Amino acid sequence: MDKFKPLTDNYGRRITYLRISVTDRCNLRCVYCMPEKGISLLNHDEIISYEIILRLVSVLAKHGVNKIRITGGEPLVRKGLAGFIESISGISGIKDVSLTTNGVLLERYARELYDAGLKRINISLDSLKEDIFRKITRTGSLKDVITGINLAKNMGFNPIKINTVLIKGINDGEIIDFVDFARKLELNLRFIEYMPIGGNIAEAVLSKEIEEKISSAYDGFSLINRNKKDKDGAGVLENSVSKEFGFKDCGAVIGFISPLSRHFCGDCSRLRLTASGNLRLCLFYDTEYNIKDILNETDDEIIFEKISEFIKLKEYKHNFNEKAKKQESLLWANDFMNEIGG
Ligand code: SAM
Ligand code: SF4
Repeated sequence: MDKFKPLTDNYGRRITYLRISVTDRCNLRCVYCMPEKGISLLNHDEIISYEIILRLVSVLAKHGVNKIRITGGEPLVRKGLAGFIESISGISGIKDVSLTTNGVLLERYARELYDAGLKRINISLDSLKEDIFRKITRTGSLKDVITGINLAKNMGFNPIKINTVLIKGINDGEIIDFVDFARKLELNLRFIEYMPIGGNIAEAVLSKEIEEKISSAYDGFSLINRNKKDKDGAGVLENSVSKEFGFKDCGAVIGFISPLSRHFCGDCSRLRLTASGNLRLCLFYDTEYNIKDILNETDDEIIFEKISEFIKLKEYKHNFNEKAKKQESLLWANDFMNEIGG
């Protein structure tokens, strides 16, 4: 048998986690993610096919990629997602498949997704007040997302993680409401620091400030150490980017993802696939590699060698604090989160 060759960058970091943006389309227009009028979207034939993604994942899985996140745009607007998730989960070596969604279409698709084998889900929710929800998403209804969360909970999705981005002066008054919401439903709530992308539309609320507010409101709010390696000592299966806290009296978990104030580049095991079929090494560098052509190769090892060469270009750490100081856009002129997938 051939010796196992892990996908490794120039700094010895093993790449074990692939985030796949399956579409650049979205049914919302969140102020921090997309311009109000939307952006010029890819033509349907420019969006990477499920077939090519599955081929890529099967090659990478032989070289240690074991964790997949499906994101977008809004992944639930792409047809055939449940079947695709079922196929990806069946690839040998893939241990963890999860989905990030805005939750609007969960009422329609939760059952199908669950039956396809999806058990882990992240739902983005930035306000518990209908008017503020509308202000942030510019469209859409909070009621739909809450219905989706309750349905996912009753169906047995576990864990359910709620992703919340706080923006000064808009939703930063809702910290305790969010914590109470997570405690009531025993959810995993993660506050993600707002990244000023494509122009600085607002001020971020840093994790420390949120942590202090929660800590002074609840007794027994304490740090949980849950970073775990898989049994080969390889990829981090549990979340390493989020600093997590629990409570003595309930099972809710509060996490902080702090790209601005506590970067996690040293442990980065991530690779991204954009909706147009480009592999991207880091959210904040525009180095991309189109995989559509190399996936025509019939020999998996040639594909792996080509991707390996590309991985060697991965930078050690992101540069966005430097860019932010100079008030430069954190992404490049034609980049938006909806295509890269966040
Ligand atoms: N549409 C899905 C959703 O909203 O969950 C998946 C795609 S969205 C790009 C993935 C995640 O990126 C969401 O949790 C969203 O809140 C986050 N995100 C988008 N723009 C962001 C920004 N400027 N700063 C921080 N997080 C951002
Ligand atoms: Fe759409 Fe998600 Fe971006 Fe909001 S954050 S506009 S839901 S892709």
